[in-house]
Amino acid sequence: MEKKQFQAESKRLLEMMINSIYTQKEIFLRELISNASDAIDKIYYKALTDDNLVFDKDSYAIKITADQQNRTLTISDTGIGMTKEELENHLGVIAKSGSLAFKKENETKDDHTIIGQFGVGFYSAFMVADVVTVISKALNSEGAYKWESSGADGYTIEPCEKDTVGTDIILKIKENTEEESFDEFLDDYRLRSIIKKYSDFIRYPIKMDDEQI
Ligand code: ADP
Ligand code: MG
Repeated sequence: MEKKQFQAESKRLLEMMINSIYTQKEIFLRELISNASDAIDKIYYKALTDDNLVFDKDSYAIKITADQQNRTLTISDTGIGMTKEELENHLGVIAKSGSLAFKKENETKDDHTIIGQFGVGFYSAFMVADVVTVISKALNSEGAYKWESSGADGYTIEPCEKDTVGTDIILKIKENTEEESFDEFLDDYRLRSIIKKYSDFIRYPIKMDDEQI
């Protein structure tokens, strides 16, 4: 399969994330939950003006699943999803509002200050994962697509199976090194505490093991 290259700016941010010595790695979860919430918001606002779309509050949620055996952490949402083009354009290209644009105007500040103060977005997943897989089915669209990347060398996109509208972000959590442990991001108790810390402003239910957090 053809490997597509990231835009130069995205690649720089990605490299910054992969090599990050930033200690607050846990913020990746804040970023992915906030993206999930934004995606549900998009359906919510669409339903306000689209009579064919009903926003049934009970069917919208963000679900987080840790699998210790396979070292995966999955963040699933029932949001608006992404088409093939959106996977390409939104995940391969850095958001205009992203921290890198901000960084340009603030060259004197170091990376830590920037990561700490601003949302670094989707790419922060690469602080804790060596492979990131995004499976998404967009609202009012036929098929589903899988986007996958193991870092700065690019990404692939291919058709896949997904029955329901929304997005699953699957993180293959890094192996521990002598300096750092990543096991905490597979630990239910630790994950619950990170979720509680960062999800005050999230208006949709966040669930682990079918239990609301
Ligand atoms: P930002 O949230 O500031 O736009 P991100 O890097 O966090 O930047 O995300 C980039 C874009 O990718 C989002 O704007 C959105 O279009 C898309 N995206 C990311 N996660 C999801 C998701 N779970 N569902 C739908 N779209 C998403
Ligand atoms: Mg975001």
